[in-house]
Amino acid sequence: MADDYSLFINGKFKETREKQKVINPSNGEVIAQVSVAGTPEIEEALQAARDAFDNGPWPRLSLKERKEFLLKISQGIFDHASELAGIESQNTGKPIKEATFMDIPSAAKTFEHFANNLEKYLEAEKIEISAETKAGAKLTREPIGVVVLIVPWNYPLLIASWKMAQALAAGNTLILKPSSLTPLSVLELAKIIDAAGLPKGAVNIINGSGSQLGEALCSDRRIDMISFTGSNEVGKQIVNYASQAVKKLTMELGGKSAAIVLKDADLEVAVNSLLCAIFLNQGQMCTAMSRIFVEDSIYEKFIADFTAKAKRIKLGNSLDFETQIGPLVSETQRKKVIAYVEKAVKQGAKLLCGGKIPVGQDFKNGFFFEPTVLGSILSEMAIFKEEVFGPVACLSKFSGIEEAIKLANCSEFGLAASLWTKDTALAEDLSNRLNAGTIWVNTYGMFYNELPYGGFKQSGFGKELGREGFLEYTRLKNMVLDRSESGKPLVSYWYGF
Ligand code: NAD
Repeated sequence: MADDYSLFINGKFKETREKQKVINPSNGEVIAQVSVAGTPEIEEALQAARDAFDNGPWPRLSLKERKEFLLKISQGIFDHASELAGIESQNTGKPIKEATFMDIPSAAKTFEHFANNLEKYLEAEKIEISAETKAGAKLTREPIGVVVLIVPWNYPLLIASWKMAQALAAGNTLILKPSSLTPLSVLELAKIIDAAGLPKGAVNIINGSGSQLGEALCSDRRIDMISFTGSNEVGKQIVNYASQAVKKLTMELGGKSAAIVLKDADLEVAVNSLLCAIFLNQGQMCTAMSRIFVEDSIYEKFIADFTAKAKRIKLGNSLDFETQIGPLVSETQRKKVIAYVEKAVKQGAKLLCGGKIPVGQDFKNGFFFEPTVLGSILSEMAIFKEEVFGPVACLSKFSGIEEAIKLANCSEFGLAASLWTKDTALAEDLSNRLNAGTIWVNTYGMFYNELPYGGFKQSGFGKELGREGFLEYTRLKNMVLDRSESGKPLVSYWYGF
């Protein structure tokens, strides 16, 4: 029997007549029915969030009270961690081990971090202006207002928690729209938020397809900011909607991240880590190291080790703790990945392993695809340029550092990159030359609440996390104070009166 989920608007759970089925991608079974927002629910959420910001308590609470609420949400996530991990794993297909050790605790810790740091991050700054102007200024950070948060299906709870924790810590009210493929964990979070007793209207969560809800939400004048994570295609549409009523935007978009493995790298560390960097969450990661460049003298050894280990990665039902790769999120996503692999092979890529739908009873009704390794990738190929968002590693070799940098930077995207070398001075130098917002050296995928994260070029603009990410959800006000000894500033006698 599938569970029923309602929307969360103005402090109430609201069931709608229109319902949508949510599928478990491991076996194709329906696991839940979720209410879908129509025009009345969008209107209700917009008005509730606006009223809650303009007249409600949330933006007016003391910072200490705000902090207490956020800590309660964090604790609520920790208290329901195993239940949330199960739901996230069943809904997305990500292995339960990943949901348990990564997504859920990280979501809780993000609320905790912004609760504990909001006072520090919001501290007003006093500025001394040049001596002869005899003026002082104070810079203060205010909440922006009503924020729409739109999140993708690959890390539904985690990315929503990043955005919610920052937006709420800054004093905004919000409307969250999850992907209609994966709305369950954030609707569970709504229950935690409700139990924490947040003022009504501060958080509103509505479900529905982006193409149906997007324009109404993103072009409305009651909205002050949109924080979006998703594809470039949808990102561009949102920029258009937002232009109808000038809004602040942050855009976390796609990626085609590069790993550079130099000949002095610890080969075992590089191989093992890069397997994770492309196969975790079935490769459905915006920062997936989907292009791996290996120095020519170690290329053959690298591909032999990488391919041998890729073949050993265990596919299975996402709820099995032994599973290392679960199904892709949907049949549509699987078809897209298969088409990319087939096209790459036609264009001359060498299929080193995978490339097929696994056979067997366990995989019959799910959206599984084998971990795939392609060699001899060239920069002209579509798979070099476009985001696949699946378990497909693309390997090529380079000769010399200049070529490595050129290949890595040869992309419209600029989200992340990684460097594998024992020479840390060289790594710092190369890091300065890489056109990407995050560079990992001898590691991968480390996100810290203290560190701002965000891409360059077509990977978007704005940051998430850290002080800089948090400040995206604020507006900066300056107050200038005359301090002339006479008490008469220039403006008061300019006309000679
Ligand atoms: P998507 O762009 O299809 O959808 C993202 C969200 O936008 C969903 O909630 C969807 O319902 C909504 N949406 C769709 N059409 C809309 C419209 N017209 N107006 C408003 N909202 C609309 O992306 P996806 O398939 O869910 O996720 C995969 C993409 O997300 C990949 O491109 C990936 O790189 C990107 N991503 C980026 C980051 C990052 O931090 N840069 C992180 C995760 C995912």
